[in-house]
This record gives sequence, C-alpha cells and structure tokens, in this order.
Amino acid sequence: MRVDVVSIFPEYLAALDLSLVGKARRAGLLDLRVHDLRDWTTDRHRTVDDTPFGGGAGMVMRPDVWGRALDDVLGATGGHLVVPTPSGEVFTQRHAEALATEEHLVVACGRYEGIDARVVEHYRAAGHRVSELSIGDYVLNGGEVAALVMIEAVGRLLPGVVGNPASLVEESHGAAGLLEYPVYTKPPAWEGLEVPGVLLSGHHARIERWRRDQALARTAARRPDMLERLDVATLDRHDLEV
Ligand code: SAM
Repeated sequence: MRVDVVSIFPEYLAALDLSLVGKARRAGLLDLRVHDLRDWTTDRHRTVDDTPFGGGAGMVMRPDVWGRALDDVLGATGGHLVVPTPSGEVFTQRHAEALATEEHLVVACGRYEGIDARVVEHYRAAGHRVSELSIGDYVLNGGEVAALVMIEAVGRLLPGVVGNPASLVEESHGAAGLLEYPVYTKPPAWEGLEVPGVLLSGHHARIERWRRDQALARTAARRPDMLERLDVATLDRHDLEV
C-alpha cells in the first residue's frame, strides 16, 4: 500500500519510522511518503492560509495551494483522499478495515480553521473517493495526530505487518463485536493480586469460555452500545447467561 501525507508540519509524522509501522516501511509493505504543503506555494512567504470569507476568527487553508499539492500527490492513481476533520464521520475499526484494502491513500492534514470546503467538493466531483473522518468528539490543532492514528490503525491490518495474525482476530472492535477480555502475564501473583486460576489450569476449553464471558461482561459494563449492536445469531446458550 502507498500512503502520502501532506502537512505543514511534516516532522510531526516522524513517529511513523518507529515500531511496527516503521518496520512495515522498511520491509516494503508500506510505501509511506510525507510532504510539506509549503512546497506547493508560489509566494516568497510560502503562504498556505488566508482570512475567511464572511469574517470570523482564524485563518482558512487556501484551496489553490491544496489543489496543486493534491493534483501532484493523487496523480493518476485514483487514490482515496482522507481528510481528517472534527466534523467528519467518527473513525472506527470498520473504516480502518475498509481503508486497508485500498492501494493508495492520501491524507490531507488541515490546520487553523481547516481547509477551504471547495477542496473536498472538487476531488469528489473529479471522481476520487474522499473520506472526511474524525478521530473523536474533540478538537485538535491539526490533522497530523489524526493521520498518525489512522495510519497506525490501517497499517497494522496490512498482511505481514503484525507478526501473528491471530492476535488481530480476538481484539477489541474485531469481528466478534466485543471488547477484548483482560490479559495477564508473569508473575502469577503481584502486589497481592492473583492471576485468575482458570488461566493457569491448562484447560483450553475452560479458558476459552472464561475469556468469552469476560469479553461479554466487560462490553456490557463499558460499552452497552456495542452489546446492543451485537448480532444475536453470534451468541450461544452460555453467552445469554452472562
Ligand atoms: N474549525 C474546525 C471545526 O470547528 O470543525 C476545527 C479546525 S482544527 C483547529 C484544525 C485541523 O485539525 C482540522 O482541519 C483537522 O485537520 C484537524 N482536527 C482537529 N480535530 C480533529 C479531530 N477530532 N479529528 C480529526 N482531525 C481533527
């Protein structure tokens, strides 16, 4: 997969050299390129913003600068344009799964009061897939942190990025539609707290049942909205007793 990120703070994306995403880049699984939006400015001051039409506080990012940048970066690949914005659809694991099937993503990181609304309109009209996505109901200073979140969530779904693909299956927000059960490691007792005995029993079926019960109970307590969305056909007789 190729991912291009356009930002006025390309240094923000340096974290994508680390950990699993960094490894995926080095292994050639993820072709990630970060660009400075100011490279597409034409004036001496490398201006990317201007005052809002209609008045009001703050500055708005200019469509002409973004247009030159995105024409170059989207190129002829028919890439999927991702625009982080607090007014977008809330980004979930389902978005990550869908984006992970794309060949080329371009992430346009806004700053100030955001990007002139004609940019999204123009690329939609030109036939590009465009996703305006929010990482949550709060306002950040720029789209870079949102880009990091989305690229990490998408990147770990690419084949070969996570060493053991089984670890993706049972995770929170996965196919089961539940939060993950609590996890433990050595030592078996710490600060007077013991690991649940069943996990030390070696009894595979009982461990599986305990984990499923814990996932259901945790989801019910913390995310009743997820439980409500659960397909009853996926529940067994024991699930209904939890
Ligand atoms: N004036 C905009 C509004 O009220 O919707 C907020 C602009 S915000 C200060 C600047 C940029 O940060 C946005 O263009 C977007 O790229 C990014 N941003 C802020 N909050 C975000 C969020 N929750 N999710 C994704 N991107 C966000």
